[in-house]
Amino acid sequence: MPTQADPCSQPNLIQPDEAIALLLKQVAPPDGSEVVQLTHALGRILAEDLTSAIDLPPFDNSAMDGYAFRFDDLSVNKSLTLIGQSFAGHPFQGEITPNTCIRIMTGAPLPFGYDTVQMQERVDAKEQTVVIEAPKAKGANLRYRGEEIKTGGKVLSRGTLIGAAQMGVLATIGVSQLRVIHQVKVAFFSTGDELRPVGSELSPGQIYDSNRYTIQGLLSRANIDWIDLGVIADDPEAIRHAFRDAASRADMVLTSGGVSVGDADYTKQILNEEGEITFWRLAIKPGKPFAFGHLGKAVFCGLPGNPVSSMVTFYKLVWPLLQKMQGLPHIQPLQLKAKLKGDLRKFPGRVEYQRGILSHNEQGEAEVSLTGGQGSGMLTSMSLANCFVILNQEQGDTPNGTLVTVEPFNSVLC
Ligand code: AMP
Ligand code: MG
Repeated sequence: MPTQADPCSQPNLIQPDEAIALLLKQVAPPDGSEVVQLTHALGRILAEDLTSAIDLPPFDNSAMDGYAFRFDDLSVNKSLTLIGQSFAGHPFQGEITPNTCIRIMTGAPLPFGYDTVQMQERVDAKEQTVVIEAPKAKGANLRYRGEEIKTGGKVLSRGTLIGAAQMGVLATIGVSQLRVIHQVKVAFFSTGDELRPVGSELSPGQIYDSNRYTIQGLLSRANIDWIDLGVIADDPEAIRHAFRDAASRADMVLTSGGVSVGDADYTKQILNEEGEITFWRLAIKPGKPFAFGHLGKAVFCGLPGNPVSSMVTFYKLVWPLLQKMQGLPHIQPLQLKAKLKGDLRKFPGRVEYQRGILSHNEQGEAEVSLTGGQGSGMLTSMSLANCFVILNQEQGDTPNGTLVTVEPFNSVLC
C-alpha cells in the first residue's frame, strides 16, 4: 500500500455521504400536482395512492389452452363428452351437465359449474369423446377472479415512478388518466470564455461546450423539465443577468464551471452577491469543487467545469436532490463487488469514482476493467463505461485481481 498522498487532497474536505445528507435537508418535496392521460404518464411520479375499481382478473379464466371440466367427474370416468368451447372474448353460453367438458383457451372465461382445466397435451380428444389425464388437484390451471388485485385494493403508492410496467398495470385496471406530481424545472447554462457551442468554428484556445449537452441528456433521461440558457461568457453583467433570469424561471439553477478555488472568472463573486451560496470542497475525485445554495426561490447547484467532474457531481449530489424535489424516495444505489482486471492507480486522500466496464467471466464471476485514461477532462471514460469503480479515501494503488466495489450506472440517467 503506497503512502504517498494525493497532491490535490487537502485537510477538511467534506465526505460525499456527509455532503448528500446536508444537501438533502435544504430541499423540500413538491406540493403541486396535475392530471395527465395514461399515454403521457411515462417518467412521471404518482401524486396519490391508486386503488383498483375492479377485481383482477375480472373473472375466473383458464391459464392454459386445454379442456375445462368438473374434477370429481374424472373419479368416475376419465372419458367426458365435449359440449362446446370458450375462447378469449367469446365465453361458453350453454348449460353445464355432469360428465362433460369444453375446449377452453388461455384467458377464456371458465363457465360456472366447472372447476378445473387440463392442458391439451394431457388430453386425448376424438370428436365428441375426450379422455382426460387427471391433474394433481381440483382447481388446476386456473386464474381466479381477484387473485392478483381485489376491488378497492392498493395497486400503486404515491411517489411511484411510472415506467413501462406501471403503465401496463394501470391499463390492466382500466385507468385512463392519473394524478402526478408537477415536474421540477431546471434552468442550466455553461460559463467560460473558452467555450463555443457545437456547430461553430473554434479559434485558438477555444473548446466546445460539452457539459450543456451532458446535462441536457441527464435531465431528459430523468424526465425533468429544462431550460437551456446557453454559454455565458466570463463577463460580470452577463453572468448576473443569467443567474437572475434562470432563478426567476426554474426550481433549480444548474451551472458548470467557475466554482473552483482561484478561478479567474466572476462566477463566485456574483453568486455571493446574488444569493446565499456555500462553496464546498468535497473529498471526491473527480469533482472536488461544488457550490450549493439559494438564488431567490430557486435552489442553486454549481458543478465543476471539468466534464467528468461535472457528471460525477451531478450523479452523486444533484440527482439525490432532484429525486427529493420530484417526490421520489431516496434509494441508496446498488453496489456490488467485482474482480479488478488490470492494475489501478490511486493516491490515498479522496474517494474516487473511476469509470469501469462491468461484465461476467466464464465462471459467472463479476469482473470490472477501467475505461482507459481517468482524467477529469476525459469524458470518453464515462461514455465507454457502464459503472463507477468506487475506491475509498485511504485506498492506494490497487493490483489486478482485487475485489473492488462497483456501482452500475443508474439506468434512468445514463
Ligand atoms: P472551471 O471549473 O471553469 O475552472 O473549468 C475547469 C475545466 O473545465 C477547464 O479546462 C474548462 O475549460 C473546462 N470546462 C468548463 N466548462 C466546460 C464545458 N461546459 N464543457 C467542456 N469543458 C468545460
Ligand atoms: Mg471557467
